[in-house]
Amino acid sequence: MKLVSSTPLLNEAREEGYGIVAFNIHTLEMLQAVVDAAEECRSPLILQSTVGTVKHLGADYIVSAAQSAAKNANIPIALHLDHCQDYDLIVKCMYAGYTSVMIDASMFPFEQNVEKTKKVVELAKILNVNVEAELGKVGGVEDDIVVSEEDALLADPKECEEFVEVTGVPTLAPAIGTAHGIYKGEPNIDFKRIDEISRRVKVPLVLHGGSGIPAEQVKHCISLGMAKVNVATELKNAFSQSLIQFFEENPTEFDPRKYMVPAKETVKKLAIEKIELAGSIGKAK
Ligand SMILES: [Zn+2]
Repeated sequence: MKLVSSTPLLNEAREEGYGIVAFNIHTLEMLQAVVDAAEECRSPLILQSTVGTVKHLGADYIVSAAQSAAKNANIPIALHLDHCQDYDLIVKCMYAGYTSVMIDASMFPFEQNVEKTKKVVELAKILNVNVEAELGKVGGVEDDIVVSEEDALLADPKECEEFVEVTGVPTLAPAIGTAHGIYKGEPNIDFKRIDEISRRVKVPLVLHGGSGIPAEQVKHCISLGMAKVNVATELKNAFSQSLIQFFEENPTEFDPRKYMVPAKETVKKLAIEKIELAGSIGKAK
């Protein structure tokens, strides 16, 4: 199969009440591990890279690897660009082969966010690419985007409705109390707000800051219409922890084909757990 737009995958997920996990990948091994996991689970999959990873690996390499995965897999796979503030880079990634992009103009006033999102939606429609936009401000650290606790802002349900109506954006990430990175305590998720947004907005909603949210709370979010669940930090940390452990036990092993094996296994195992949690096992068509 070819890489697919995530729009129909997420529409179906929202309709049927399950979630699709979007995994942030940083290396070829991480990409392969989450693809293996999704295949084993017969689940649709969203591969995701941040702007930092695009700068690190290059959009063409990421697209090529994702396309190879899609060609060999018999599950639908989408490739998404996470939190991008740069219109030119979004356009570049769409033309390189990304099938989904996030325009993050959440730091701008509402009208400007609308304007910037609309511009991306127009081109994306022509290219059959999914678009995600953010309202409110998700706290925490995602690459070089840092939002302090005081600056984090929850999305307003009325604004969400208006935003989706005027921009035509097919997926929306409303800030509802989650944060990027690992939580110090429990996240303070505003479920009532998600419910209100969900009543007004019929497009799939996106849960950012999915690392370390207690399982029951993730399920609750999904039941309220959050169809895309982003997992970045947890996956990255598990991958690195596995490497650290390997080198502690085998300080003289210098073969990447050896030390990457347990790291890959760790990522795969974690990915399967997340897919199970999201409820998308067997949902691949
Ligand atoms: Zn995010």
